[in-house]
Amino acid sequence: MPKFVFIAGGVMSGVGKGAACAAIGRIIQDHGYRVTAMKVDPYINVDAGTMNPVEHGEVFVTDDGDETDQDIGNYERFLGQSLGSVNYMTTGRVYQTVIQRERNLEYGGKTVEVVPHVPEEIIRRIMACQRVNKADVVMIEIGGTVGEYQNILFLEAARMMKMRNPKDVQIIMVSYLPIPGHTGEMKTKPTQNAVRTINSAGLQVDFILCRASRPIDEPRKRKISVFCNVGEDQVISAPDVRSIYEIPVNFEKENLGIKILKRFGLRSRKGGGNGRETWASFVRSIDNRGKPVRIGIVGKYFGSGDFTLSDTYLSVIEAVKHAAWSLSRQPSIDWVYADGFERDPKSIGELDRFDGIIVPGGFGSRGAEGKIMAIRWCRENRKPFLGICYGMQLATVEFARNVVGLKGANTTEIDGKTPHPVIHIMPEQESLVRQRKYGATMRLGAWPCRLAGKTASRRAYARQVDAQGGVSERHRHRYEFNNAYREQLRQAGLVIAGTSPDGLLVEVVEIKDHPFFVATQYHPELKSRPLDPHPLFTEFIRIAGGKKGRK
Ligand code: GLN
Repeated sequence: MPKFVFIAGGVMSGVGKGAACAAIGRIIQDHGYRVTAMKVDPYINVDAGTMNPVEHGEVFVTDDGDETDQDIGNYERFLGQSLGSVNYMTTGRVYQTVIQRERNLEYGGKTVEVVPHVPEEIIRRIMACQRVNKADVVMIEIGGTVGEYQNILFLEAARMMKMRNPKDVQIIMVSYLPIPGHTGEMKTKPTQNAVRTINSAGLQVDFILCRASRPIDEPRKRKISVFCNVGEDQVISAPDVRSIYEIPVNFEKENLGIKILKRFGLRSRKGGGNGRETWASFVRSIDNRGKPVRIGIVGKYFGSGDFTLSDTYLSVIEAVKHAAWSLSRQPSIDWVYADGFERDPKSIGELDRFDGIIVPGGFGSRGAEGKIMAIRWCRENRKPFLGICYGMQLATVEFARNVVGLKGANTTEIDGKTPHPVIHIMPEQESLVRQRKYGATMRLGAWPCRLAGKTASRRAYARQVDAQGGVSERHRHRYEFNNAYREQLRQAGLVIAGTSPDGLLVEVVEIKDHPFFVATQYHPELKSRPLDPHPLFTEFIRIAGGKKGRK
């Protein structure tokens, strides 16, 4: 009988519920069980694809082309598995199915009600995820915090599952314990209240993970135990960590894996192999701080009030870290506002403080000229450069303008009347956009790409390509390289390093006589894992860290 672990948040959001869910999945996996993880987002949006990046953070694309939440990325990185559309649900998605089924008369003429029909659909989806992944244990993270109107139906689904199979369902609350500056004392009251709130949904928690800036001490563990109706060994310390990858190691210090299994009536299995040791030694390698490698990310989705938000580029940042650690280098990442270069063109020289520059994915005109300036600077100053998606499209524009001399060259995303549309909308996308069909209609998910011989990309991927130079990478875009300009750009020195197997879509461009200048239409960052860094990032970091770009 499969087991289900729900993760709910107490007190406030943003305290690492996703990372906790991923980390627990990892430790159970290392005890020899097949684990999968699901994210439940309480919003009405059917997927994350149409949300503003500053508001929502990164849209994580799965192999099967779902536009999901960044937590799915965390799960993939911790579990070392590729997940899919079944691993993600939103309120919008659940209601959409219920309404569709009602219209198809699948409820046999009954009154279709919010309860039980909506929680039943939630449960159906959880069971489907378990089946598809053949999981022994399913981790289910419920977005938001308990007490929010929005996630009540998901808690209700958990309650119904637990009522039917009490031994197969556990609830873990990730709570936050504030330490007010003027007293320095860790406060448990908000957590007590959060536990009462989840109690009122008919659920008793099995574990409370105490998120705080420091470990929870014995007196407070005791207090939470007494007031929240759990044993002291069910109160788990979860202090801040330098890297989220330390979390599984920390949890295991409190034997959380064994404790969860025990409550399910299970024990640790040898089948986990040496996964636990592999992870622990990876975490030690993070500590082994080598020389820093300084990477600048030129983007625009950073601003949110008065703090800098880097969530939009989460997978890019993680991919840089994975690659740097694997080379025993210390990643040092900084944000560069693309629009700053537009206002003050002379400031472009600031890029010299980095060992390598990334221009990641993006949309729209704001900051695009600044990114083009950054790309030009990298090309002319031989600075290692990695362009991703929009970064590849703008690298093509830059090359067309400044090497080929095509004045006013652009992507039609920015300038519909450009004399040289070197990047243009994909034909099948045009009518979708005209009909305002934006949701889940981009070119999405994993597609094969064939890399040409004797290119920097082919060399980077050397150990992964098949006999034809084939790789598979994930996409999310509406625009593409315009083949009408292919020959002209190629003759001027642009290397078409990768295309779709039929040769029609340009997927990777490079330039010659440069230490590293590679730009991909796809998003390599989505497949980077801590224990399996992405070859393009590794090659980029290796070259960036090895020698200065300037001659
Ligand atoms: N805006 C570009 C497109 O739609 C690039 C998208 C991206 O960078 N993910 O094609």
